[in-house]
Amino acid sequence: MSHKYAFLLDYFSKNIPNPKTELDYDTPFHLVISVILSAQCTDKRVNSITPALFKRFPNPIDLANSTYEELFPYVKSISYPNNKTRYLLSMAQIITNKFDSKIPSEIKDLCTLPGVGKKSANAIASIIYNVPSMPVDTHVFRVSKRLGLVDENTKTPLAVEKILTNNIPKQYLNKFHHWLVLHGRYTCLARKPKCTQCKLIDICTYLPTANSKK
Ligand code: SF4
Repeated sequence: MSHKYAFLLDYFSKNIPNPKTELDYDTPFHLVISVILSAQCTDKRVNSITPALFKRFPNPIDLANSTYEELFPYVKSISYPNNKTRYLLSMAQIITNKFDSKIPSEIKDLCTLPGVGKKSANAIASIIYNVPSMPVDTHVFRVSKRLGLVDENTKTPLAVEKILTNNIPKQYLNKFHHWLVLHGRYTCLARKPKCTQCKLIDICTYLPTANSKK
């Protein structure tokens, strides 16, 4: 492992020993609901509507037997409520009919659920089943480049995923994912990174660029 990766592993292990998703959930089924709702939406907003949703639909069968008209009011305050209402109903029907009301652990099976793409499938599998994975969302994409974990010309999330996966030991992949997300969400913000408060400043490759633009 290169010096930079080793530094981050040491730093984050000491400071955020048990990183977790910030989506609230109580069962694997409810995690899938939260992940589908979180596309193009903040975790905070999703968490504000899920308590009532989870209470009304505790199991896949409850949601599978519901209707668009009944479900829509629960999700109408988040982004893309029409599509997400349809996704949730179809997802619950597939989970009930095809997977015996259990959330599958295989990425290929998770990807058959409406509203669940590769990134979401990786996230669900890593959280529920601890399957090692590195879903590259906007935070991971940005922070990896700024820290110089990948070259700044790396074009796609898939390319970033490959480089990170090749450099981070498998047993730390899931934690590393959460660490990069949390760092991007609270410190290395997209528009105004909090560089003066950042403890990673000594290894960051973005800062000299930012300074030279001043
Ligand atoms: S120093 Fe600034 S740009 Fe670099 S990781 Fe920290 S917050 Fe992000």
